[in-house]
Amino acid sequence: MDLQILPIDHPKPRISDENNLVFGKQFTDRMFVMEYDSGKGWHSARIQPYAPFVLDPAAMVFHYAQEIFEGLKAFRRADGTIALFRPADNFARFNRSARRMCMPEVDERFVLDALLELIRLEADWVPHNQGTSLYIRPTMIATEPMLGVRPSNKYLCYIILSPVGAYYKGGVAPVKIWISDFYVRATEGGTGEAKTGGNYAASLYAAKQAAEDGYDQVLWLDAKEKRFVEEVGSMNMLFLYDGKIVTSPLRGTVLDGITRRSALTLLGDMGYQIEERALTVDEVMEGATNGRLTEAFGTGTAVVISPVGSFCYKDSCVRLGDGQPGKLTMELYHKLTAIQYGKEADSHNWVTLL
Ligand code: PMP
Repeated sequence: MDLQILPIDHPKPRISDENNLVFGKQFTDRMFVMEYDSGKGWHSARIQPYAPFVLDPAAMVFHYAQEIFEGLKAFRRADGTIALFRPADNFARFNRSARRMCMPEVDERFVLDALLELIRLEADWVPHNQGTSLYIRPTMIATEPMLGVRPSNKYLCYIILSPVGAYYKGGVAPVKIWISDFYVRATEGGTGEAKTGGNYAASLYAAKQAAEDGYDQVLWLDAKEKRFVEEVGSMNMLFLYDGKIVTSPLRGTVLDGITRRSALTLLGDMGYQIEERALTVDEVMEGATNGRLTEAFGTGTAVVISPVGSFCYKDSCVRLGDGQPGKLTMELYHKLTAIQYGKEADSHNWVTLL
């Protein structure tokens, strides 16, 4: 398939203040788009001006939420070059989500090459200040106008780009976590490991309640026994428990996070033993009190590492450490960001340079 490059007529004003970019609000001049029709496959791949789509009100995505997406970042390095972090892993996960949601897979190499071309054209939009980046959102939606419940025969796949500011402006800050003993995010046999919009829509109610009660994030327990820790907000959860790294295994309810994967590799390199087993909520609450649980953090593309300051479950809250991010948490944060921004050698070949 060819990639057509269309001109832009009216470039937008450039970023005026890199330090005050709001996450996911501002978009660049161009986007990548391709279309799918069953029988014909993917076609009409193009880089075109960023613009709204015209969709039929009966388009299936609006009714039955057949939709998937990805999230990754491009980083500006000190020498001016632009780097992507493990982008092939994102497109592999995009295709796993597509299979789960009965959507057509994409040619991973073609879409990654198209993304690299898009970023080359939009290079001016990759911010320079420390901690800033260009957030990349590949998306696929079902577009066939049809109210019957079945997989769509038509799809749009697109990639939009959004310059984002540093997540931590005043230094890495620990968060207050609410462990929900009622709401759940994902069930075995469900869609938890797919990056599909419905999972996020379903999580909003508990997140809203948590925010109203003064918490930063919701920690999700398994749906069956409500005992085992799965994820926190839209991050994977890692614990330093008895001096070992413990994190929930990937059994269909947890997203296979690329930051999680990278963190486990780096922690393994540092000599830590890794246990992929779900910690129980009792181990978390008691461990924070009896000293077996010394550090806990979420991992995800947006934040990289988010240290936990306290956990609240039913009527009690426990604090972790002295209110400051843990030593290992910070070491890992610095290691990962140093690889992303090219300050440390990329010994695992995670970086794709433009
Ligand atoms: N879990 C969920 C539910 C997420 O949405 C994300 C963000 N993609 C993650 C974990 C972290 O994944 P990654 O490290 O690939 O961003």
